[in-house]
Amino acid sequence: MSTSTTPRIVPLIDLRSASLAMPSATLKHGARSMDSILPTDLLGRPLRDLRISVTDRCNFRCNYCMPKEVFDKDYTYLPHASLLSFEEITRTARLFAGLGVRKIRLTGGEPLLRKNLEVLIEQLAQLRTVDGAPLDLTLTTNGSLLARKAKALKAAGLQRVTVSLDGLDDAVFRSMNDVDFPVADVLAAIDAALAAGLGVDASGNAGGLKVNMVVKRGTNEQEILPMARHFKGTGIVLRFIEYMDVGATNGWRMNEVLPSRDVVQLIHADMPLVQLASSAPGETAERWGFANASGRHDPAAGEIGVISSVTQAFCHDCNRARLSTEGKLYLCLFASQGYDLRALLRGGASDADIESSIGDIWAGRNDRYSELRSAMAPDAGAGTRRVEMSYIGG
Ligand code: SAM
Ligand code: SF4
Ligand code: SF4
Repeated sequence: MSTSTTPRIVPLIDLRSASLAMPSATLKHGARSMDSILPTDLLGRPLRDLRISVTDRCNFRCNYCMPKEVFDKDYTYLPHASLLSFEEITRTARLFAGLGVRKIRLTGGEPLLRKNLEVLIEQLAQLRTVDGAPLDLTLTTNGSLLARKAKALKAAGLQRVTVSLDGLDDAVFRSMNDVDFPVADVLAAIDAALAAGLGVDASGNAGGLKVNMVVKRGTNEQEILPMARHFKGTGIVLRFIEYMDVGATNGWRMNEVLPSRDVVQLIHADMPLVQLASSAPGETAERWGFANASGRHDPAAGEIGVISSVTQAFCHDCNRARLSTEGKLYLCLFASQGYDLRALLRGGASDADIESSIGDIWAGRNDRYSELRSAMAPDAGAGTRRVEMSYIGG
């Protein structure tokens, strides 16, 4: 349980209304032709992964993301008219796919709170990459509404799902989600997702279902081993995420970050691990497989992942863009301002103009916050002005 004595919740500075000016080239019609080469940014990184936040609301109040003290009954969420419609999201996603995006992750807030989400998934499942393949379509959820929606999501074309779960001890988990939500219901949701077929990819391989556990030192580190034991051999990939200084309200301090190398060491001492090759360029997780008696990876036992956003920056091949609930394009999880694509969508811009704008914005990108933070004093990131993760999407 938490060892902290005084809450360090930071009041919210609302950055949602701030927007960056579009690059001037985007004002020209046809600045980038449809058949131009796919854009890379100023650090040579392609655009491959788009995370779309479909709502800024959530039914949990995880203290590392939407602390109750800030996201209380007086907090003003975006009005419905501000949200991108499903048609606007699909149009934008299609243009991103034309610029090289291959993977789309729906997130939030809690994405399953958005009504009829399966209708959006059905639309997104029709899109194709520049190579003509279906997009890799996935979703991150707290699991609270997944049991009843899993079948419909799968039928609509969702391929995979990531469920967040911060521990197996009910008291620890209930206090971390801060709405008294029980572990058993998340585990039941995971079972329902597996039963609906969300645990296997198109070729029938396991590993489609992932579980994200945010590790906060002094809060849930004692849950690491029970979680690793629980998911070992199930085909579910458990990923440990370092507690990040996203947003500005969670009162982040470096001493609450448990480095991923400590997580790996702890598990390795109990269940030997071997490092595995990364699955794709730009993948956030470092992969570790459970070893057999001869020290080789045992595929039947499966693997874990660690996401070391704080202690080991992976900006050098970061190929992710984020679309906020109201249609702003953010180039980094730690950005303080985004580009207002909704103004283009609702202002009558053509597909070619919007694609050109996105391409130009990406071409001017040089964000690498985590790398720069490594060079700062340990707590330098604390309380900096940044948009909240629930708005920009995790
Ligand atoms: N509500 C959904 C959920 O919790 O899965 C989707 C949105 S949530 C913002 C996406 C992911 O970000 C979750 O796995 C969550 O645990 C993680 N996350 C949120 N705040 C974080 C923080 N401060 N540090 C690390 N991960 C965080
Ligand atoms: Fe909600 Fe997900 Fe944030 Fe928790 S991490 S408050 S479930 S958006
Ligand atoms: Fe990408 Fe920004 Fe994270 Fe670096 S800090 S990996 S650029 S999102």
